[in-house]
Amino acid sequence: MPYAKTRSGLFGLALALFCQVCLARPIVHHDLQVSLRPSGGALAVQDTITLPERTSAVEFLLHANLEPEPAPGVTLTPIEYIEKGFPVPVRRYRARLATPGNRFGLRYEGVIRHSLEQISKDYAGDLSQTPGLILPEGVFLSAASHWFPIIGNERLTFSLRSTLPEGWRLVSQGRALDGGWEEQSPQDDIYLVAAPYRVYRRPGPIAEALVYLRDADEPMAQRYLEATERYLDLYSRLLGPYPYAKFALVENFWESGYGMPSFTLLGPTVIRLPFIIHTSYPHEILHNWWGNGVYVDYASGNWSEGLTSYLADHLLREQRGKGADYRRATLQRYADSVGQQEEFPLTAFRGRHGQASQAIGYGKTMMFFHMLRRQLGDRVFLEGLRRFYRDNLFRSAGFGDLRQAFEAVSEQDLSGQFRQWTTRTGAPALQLGEVRVEEAPAGFRLSAVLRQTQPGPAFRLQVPVLIQLDQKPLPLRHTLIMTGKQARLELDLGARPLRIKVDPQFELFRRLDPSEIPSSLGQLFGSEEVVIVLPEGAPPELKSAYRKLAEGWARRAPGLKILWDRQLDGLPPGRAIWLFGMENRLRGRFLEAAAGKPFSLGEDEMKIGGRTFPRTGHSLVLTSANPAAPGQTLGWLAAHSAAAIPRLGRKLPHYQKYSYLVFAGDEAGNILKSRWPLADSALNITLPAGVGRPDLELPRQPALTDILSN
Ligand SMILES: [Zn+2]
Repeated sequence: MPYAKTRSGLFGLALALFCQVCLARPIVHHDLQVSLRPSGGALAVQDTITLPERTSAVEFLLHANLEPEPAPGVTLTPIEYIEKGFPVPVRRYRARLATPGNRFGLRYEGVIRHSLEQISKDYAGDLSQTPGLILPEGVFLSAASHWFPIIGNERLTFSLRSTLPEGWRLVSQGRALDGGWEEQSPQDDIYLVAAPYRVYRRPGPIAEALVYLRDADEPMAQRYLEATERYLDLYSRLLGPYPYAKFALVENFWESGYGMPSFTLLGPTVIRLPFIIHTSYPHEILHNWWGNGVYVDYASGNWSEGLTSYLADHLLREQRGKGADYRRATLQRYADSVGQQEEFPLTAFRGRHGQASQAIGYGKTMMFFHMLRRQLGDRVFLEGLRRFYRDNLFRSAGFGDLRQAFEAVSEQDLSGQFRQWTTRTGAPALQLGEVRVEEAPAGFRLSAVLRQTQPGPAFRLQVPVLIQLDQKPLPLRHTLIMTGKQARLELDLGARPLRIKVDPQFELFRRLDPSEIPSSLGQLFGSEEVVIVLPEGAPPELKSAYRKLAEGWARRAPGLKILWDRQLDGLPPGRAIWLFGMENRLRGRFLEAAAGKPFSLGEDEMKIGGRTFPRTGHSLVLTSANPAAPGQTLGWLAAHSAAAIPRLGRKLPHYQKYSYLVFAGDEAGNILKSRWPLADSALNITLPAGVGRPDLELPRQPALTDILSN
């Protein structure tokens, strides 16, 4: 019988994969029958709970609004009401079984309706969350809602069936059942998501792809189904088998960006942004390996965001030859937003709550994996990841388990690297000095000194140094090992060296030298103290729209001050200054600071980055360092119309890595975004210094996925 075969096959697999888990952490099974009444915010549940062993009493937590009734043979005593410490008020119960056993039943119902709250307070913070919500538009319940009995911190498996209003569909983890879902691998949560949905499906060789949309949109659904299959295939080949039976894109009824086991719950705007299918979407799919496949042992630090960013966001750019750009932007975000006070070690990262925690928890972790890969080589690095996945699937794992896996495959002691990058705060800062070229018998001798200038002890580093040689198409690559705060480079070269570059492809986690960072919106949005200067002389409608935008940003950035240009004779002091308005009296100061940049403002048109735009119909956003005040970044926002201003206000926080932008019309559609070109930096100098000489493009680095086709 095919059914029995499947079951026994599964059981064998489960035993092979998870027996360690079963020993380590007992598993509770829930058989849930749910009926939802969205108009009243209510649900009614019948749960049959199977415990890992026979017992006569068990304690559990349940949402305080839900009134449980035990099945015959079970008595229930409420023992505690807990209002604080959980996302919702809960009650603790003790269930006594008249005859000791491992199974008991409960029935309960009640209202769960907690309002949405904004998650983060930074400029881009338009995501919300709720610990549980049943509304006529849709339902979102998770373990945080305590909508099912929570027993200890034990892992669980479940089956979930539901009676829903006409036209509604239910989504949860795992495999589809008739009228519901089940998951046999140990889980941390049981999600219950429901709404009126159009469902699109595509069976695939790895798992079924599903799309749940609130309104029919066949072309978009097909794009997501195709992308799902492609990424499941990519990551299964790269890392090991996908651990679930399906993957679903589910449209939420508020703006969210959740990655759950075997589905992602994204907001209606997010889903329709054209770049999401190549950025957030593969990131959420990959979380089924990191975070929802191998669970995170949060007590020892959340490694999963950095690893997911590295193998999704970074890898997909690396495949297009843009890996170094992505790493540079990552380091720039760190330099722009992390000051001394915001530092913490990776072992203390739980989740992001603003730009600084993201720059460390995602950015620094990502760079740590990149350095590990460079040290071990692509093949061994990948083997380590596969081993980590195989050994820890459906278990909680930490940096220690990662270290074990990488040490096992590389036969190297990696304790120093893991200690330095995960338990220590901060970053090394590099300085190149005493560069000399001398003629030598066999050609030339190049010598230089590299220093680490950060406070505190040295970081152990393998610093890539590239030398551009006369008449040679490719640069010479040398790795300088730094064990102290200073290291001497001495190279005998057969040809004349023309240029020396230290870490030009941003392979190290380090604090960038200011000369390596073009001015960007990120410096304005990442700054603790910001001043916005409003244009008194602007037409009333524009004036009021600028003021509203400034006040809106001020609510999200406590260190933001608003001034009018008539109050000022010159630029105020401070790390970051925004000038608003074409009419701003201080506009000339900005143009002085930006002199020499590829930008000019004419009567009717403006030239920027080699392109020309009519002044009417276009909004302009420019940044510049202020040469008169080192460390100060200036921004100038000149909007085309009052209608464009609030749209620019929402969009700009998403363009932080750029130096200049142009937007078209009242809609403020972006038509130009770029960074100012950088002249030579302190770590990229010509030999002898100061000679004008083109900087050759560096060869493309192989992508991690190149291994799959070799
Ligand atoms: Zn993530």
